[in-house]
Amino acid sequence: MRFEFSAGGIVHKKEAGSIYILLGQHSGHKGWVFPKGLIGDHKKGEGKEEAAIREVKEETGVEAKIEKALTPITYWYVWDEEKRRKTVYYFLMKAVGGDVKKHDWEMSQVKWTEKEKVEQTLTYPSDKKVWKEARKLLK
Ligand code: ATP
Repeated sequence: MRFEFSAGGIVHKKEAGSIYILLGQHSGHKGWVFPKGLIGDHKKGEGKEEAAIREVKEETGVEAKIEKALTPITYWYVWDEEKRRKTVYYFLMKAVGGDVKKHDWEMSQVKWTEKEKVEQTLTYPSDKKVWKEARKLLK
């Protein structure tokens, strides 16, 4: 058994009075998810916040700043015949720049999704759970 720790962002922006959230389709498992990735996978001693900002930028092309830490989610999966338990630290984040056209290969598509369509677009129950917490904080 192995434990993994990732960090990511629920990134929002406001346009013409509507709120949009940054979602992507994972190139590997094809699920619709929030951007995230392993903490410290580029740099030893990397913090959660730093990893979340970096992963959002790499996977979506969007620059964002952290507003609030959300309750971490956990899930199990099997890789190389080994059970893995992943904890993901998501942060509510506000977009401040960048461009979704500049996302890397880890997402096959990246979309600003209307707030009302996020729940139905997300693939995994644990992501829907943290989304419920985040949406209450958005006005
Ligand atoms: P990371 O983005 O943390 O570097 P990764 O892209 O390598 O990770 P995951 O997105 O964690 O990998 O996917 C690993 C496995 O877990 C896949 O089989 C995927 O379908 C599943 N998975 C991904 N997110 C969730 C979730 N929120 N709940 C349950 N299973 C998930």
